[in-house]
Amino acid sequence: EVTKPANFIRNIIDADLASGKHQSVQTRFPPEPNGFLHVGHAKSICINFGFAQDYQGQCNLRFDDTNPAKEETAYAKAIAADVEWLGFEWSGEIRHAADYFDQLYHFAEELIQKGLAYVDQLSADEMRAYRGTLVEPGKNSPFRDRPVEENLSLFRQMKAGDFEDGAMALRAKIDMASPNMNMRDPVIYRIKRQHHIRTGDKWCIYPTYDFTHCISDAIEGVTHSLCTLEFEDHRPLYDWVLDNISIECHPQQIEFSRLNLEHTITSKRKLNQLVVGNYVEGWDDPRMPTISGMRRRGFPAAAIRDFVLRTGVTKKVHTVEMSLLENSVRENLGENAPRAMAVLRPLKITITNYPGDKVEELNAPNHPQDESMGSRSIYFTKEIYIDQADFRESANKKYKRLVTGKSVRLRNAYVITCDEAIKDAEGNIIELHCSYDPDTLGKNPEGYKPKGVIHWVSAAQSKKAKVRLYDRLFNTPNPGAAEDFLTTINPDSLEILEDARVEMSLADAKPEDVFQFEREGYFCADRYEHKDGQLVFNRCVTLRDSWAK
Ligand code: ATP
Ligand code: MG
Ligand code: MG
Repeated sequence: EVTKPANFIRNIIDADLASGKHQSVQTRFPPEPNGFLHVGHAKSICINFGFAQDYQGQCNLRFDDTNPAKEETAYAKAIAADVEWLGFEWSGEIRHAADYFDQLYHFAEELIQKGLAYVDQLSADEMRAYRGTLVEPGKNSPFRDRPVEENLSLFRQMKAGDFEDGAMALRAKIDMASPNMNMRDPVIYRIKRQHHIRTGDKWCIYPTYDFTHCISDAIEGVTHSLCTLEFEDHRPLYDWVLDNISIECHPQQIEFSRLNLEHTITSKRKLNQLVVGNYVEGWDDPRMPTISGMRRRGFPAAAIRDFVLRTGVTKKVHTVEMSLLENSVRENLGENAPRAMAVLRPLKITITNYPGDKVEELNAPNHPQDESMGSRSIYFTKEIYIDQADFRESANKKYKRLVTGKSVRLRNAYVITCDEAIKDAEGNIIELHCSYDPDTLGKNPEGYKPKGVIHWVSAAQSKKAKVRLYDRLFNTPNPGAAEDFLTTINPDSLEILEDARVEMSLADAKPEDVFQFEREGYFCADRYEHKDGQLVFNRCVTLRDSWAK
């Protein structure tokens, strides 16, 4: 992994530690459990947990579960699993914003007592009209100057369930003429009869995100509240709330730019549309930019962390190319993935001068540059398979594979020469007859030069496997900008090869093991479907960036 570069957040933290403002670093990652985490969240995770780690501080995992309608326990579980898989550990128990509902309520009463919050009875439409626009100041609600006692008793009645959903709301009393719309008396509590996974039916009023987030941070003793740029305009409200309630801690909110990735969607709402509309097989479909999708695809967690680090921590809005992520994956797997041979689209070869019942055990290194990864046995027999793409009846000099009348080296084995292509009645090539040169194991043949090296497997000493080839899910670089992003879906993002053949050693592959199938790319044994007697491999990435122009 690349060394930790300097960045503006690191500078702030360094200064805070140097000045004695803080003795240690406390951060938090606060996802809303309304979907699976995506590659954008990976950045937030790496930043929040990463800074805590770098400074021997702590990072909390807190579910921002203030919106009871949308949250699901299954999402919360998946999120926690993703954070762990990415290689991070949260401090203590998982936190929930809902666990602070009692405290939040008391702070709301405190604001009322101080004349800084009021119960408003404007309808949602009226409230919008009173709010004004970017160029026009808002108007004060006629309920803005209610006496404290009346506000208090109405708020208590709201809590007791005396009013209908939406009949009233508690608003912070700030400034209806503020140029910042978030400061125009934002709603901090609304009436909503909704069952909540954690608090059941205890509450019929729920605090808004802005009110909850800053207080949750303060309760947890967060020192630096790191979030994305869209919260910049919310920072004055974050500070206003904490300045006006009785709480010691006042975290500093610092915003950084989101991670945007070409050919990808990073919005839970839109990713949910892909799942619900069956465009993919679920949140963890290997084509999804979710953390669990990338995991299932075979992207190592370290490669994702490395990628995020390379994108940098700044306030600059930018979109990074998919090749940056894929190159981090290639770099990691190039070093760490053992090599193996797999024939994706088999073409049978009969070696006419090889004994019919002979099985020859050969040795193949697991990694060409790393001897410590050991070696494995592969088996040579009279009948073998090569890939259909590795044979042509005739070809020019640039084609460095097998051609009728010419020779090629079989990787880790012998040099063969193609004598004849056998065809069916329609003229399709169904088999090749070749001869092998017994004196070419580990050495060059005498008197002729084979064209290239191709991979192969024995027919009898190999296993059938299902191989899934994935391509980009979207055809356009910025699907999120399309009027209907669903129209930009790549119809050919998945190709399934049912009859691939893999070398024997791959029968021992465990789910999530990743290999380099020589000359084909990196492939990962599927986390769920791969098992004994049913081998399923997902293509993680190709060997080179085939999209590069
Ligand atoms: P989405 O719009 O996909 O639902 P969100 O921001 O609403 O994303 P949250 O669950 O609220 O999702 O996000 C948790 C944290 O992850 C937040 O602090 C948010 O700023 C951060 N985050 C979300 N998307 C990105 C992104 N693309 N890049 C960096 N951080 C992100
Ligand atoms: Mg959110
Ligand atoms: Mg969002």
